[in-house]
Amino acid sequence: MAQRIDGKRISAELREQVRREVALLGGQGISVCLAVMIVGEDPASKIYVRNKKKACEELGIQSQEYALPAETSQEALLDLVEQLNQDPAVNGILVQLPLPAHIDEKSVLEAISPKKDVDAFHPINVGRIMIGSYDFLPCTPAGCMELIHSTGTEVSGKRCVVVGRSNIVGKPMAMLLLHESGTVTVCHSRTENLAEICRSADILVAAAGKAGLITGDMIKPGAVVIDVGMNRDGEGGLCGDVDAASAEPVAGWLTPVPGGVGPMTITMLMRNTVTAARLQWRQTARALPSSTRQGD
Ligand code: NDP
Repeated sequence: MAQRIDGKRISAELREQVRREVALLGGQGISVCLAVMIVGEDPASKIYVRNKKKACEELGIQSQEYALPAETSQEALLDLVEQLNQDPAVNGILVQLPLPAHIDEKSVLEAISPKKDVDAFHPINVGRIMIGSYDFLPCTPAGCMELIHSTGTEVSGKRCVVVGRSNIVGKPMAMLLLHESGTVTVCHSRTENLAEICRSADILVAAAGKAGLITGDMIKPGAVVIDVGMNRDGEGGLCGDVDAASAEPVAGWLTPVPGGVGPMTITMLMRNTVTAARLQWRQTARALPSSTRQGD
């Protein structure tokens, strides 16, 4: 029977570390602030933004919320992004996706200063992840790596299969596993023999957004299975991409949905925000004349 990877518990432990770091920075007179922009009334987006704000409050991180009407122009949104880029009191900037159809998502994400891009969606940060030299990791894949590490499984040399190739989850996930010397296969909707490929995985990450796509017969006995999927089942409840009932008797480790990857994503966002604050503070300190510098 698979052991449960408790994302809630692991997330709580990591949040405690983040809280301590925020307090430590506070003691040095450095505050940490995340600005979140939401355009329109998408109910799911509103819940995500509310949860991010709550997490900030819990950890002593200041938050600024910009709730903009759905008809906000792209120009107005870009102006706000630029204003926040220039504001030294703001360390992290996040634009909640999706944006209304009349706004070009790519232009907005690229307008965020890479130094404040705590989602790590800016092409500069994406490129840095590719070459393994990064300040921020995208939140969901970073959370998945923490969950894999929590099992004590060494990624190096293992066969890793990622189902899904989105820019937000699948591709960076594959890259992080590769950085840890996993042998990585990325599957997508055109993949042939998905079941056979999944069955070869010591570490299987399901991020397709298809309820029940991965069944027990597609899992190698003892494998670590990370279920990123967040789908609605027939009764409106939350379910993952992995069919837990058939996966549990086969997998060695399995994340539940909810309570697995979900709680980790916001925690990684909080961690990235603190990293941004620390990096910006160091940069400011270096720019000061040496006589006015405090300890770095
Ligand atoms: P996308 O829709 O952007 O990407 C889905 C990927 O899965 C695509 O690459 C697609 O292939 C692939 N795919 C779809 N169907 C199949 C199939 N039948 N067989 C193999 N591959 C398939 O989704 P995201 O990456 O943004 O998110 C994936 C899931 O993770 C969603 O359920 C989302 O809600 C969840 N999620 C959860 C988060 C959390 O915090 N827990 C955070 C972010 C996402 P192709 O490219 O060929 O279309």
